[in-house]
Amino acid sequence: MADKQLDDLFLDTLKDIYYAERQILKALPKMAKAAQSAELRAGFEQHRAETEVHVERLEQVFELLGKAPRGKTCDAILGILEEGKEIMDEFKGTSALDAGLVSAAQAVEHYEIARYGTLATWAKQLGHKEAMNLFLQTLKEEEATDEKLSSLAKTSVNLKAA
Ligand code: FE
Ligand code: FE
Repeated sequence: MADKQLDDLFLDTLKDIYYAERQILKALPKMAKAAQSAELRAGFEQHRAETEVHVERLEQVFELLGKAPRGKTCDAILGILEEGKEIMDEFKGTSALDAGLVSAAQAVEHYEIARYGTLATWAKQLGHKEAMNLFLQTLKEEEATDEKLSSLAKTSVNLKAA
């Protein structure tokens, strides 16, 4: 009974992050286009390519579970992306825009890190070892992206905004 419930939660969370990743895939080109710093723009473009792979890995997990890939509306990511959009609108043409874009992107990465950490733990508990490894691969890339954003913020973007 307990396992069955965790199973359901696992599948729901998989659908949540599948929806989120596809929203992120649509948002990243807009963030790249808005970025003023060439380095930040390149970072967003690179992470867009990685995000395509994240979506593919999730589809592999659905397949491993014998389920058709299906998303479930995730209000959290919609809110985070909406905030990012507000920053793009409100700080357009200002020296603080890139700092705002970095902060918006980090909120996205932290959301993903939370989700993938949870999914990897549950996959392990439920005995889905292959799925766990797929989640951990993506988790590593989200963490690396977050660190890159932090160092970009410290070395250049925030200094220009100050
Ligand atoms: Fe991702
Ligand atoms: Fe990401």
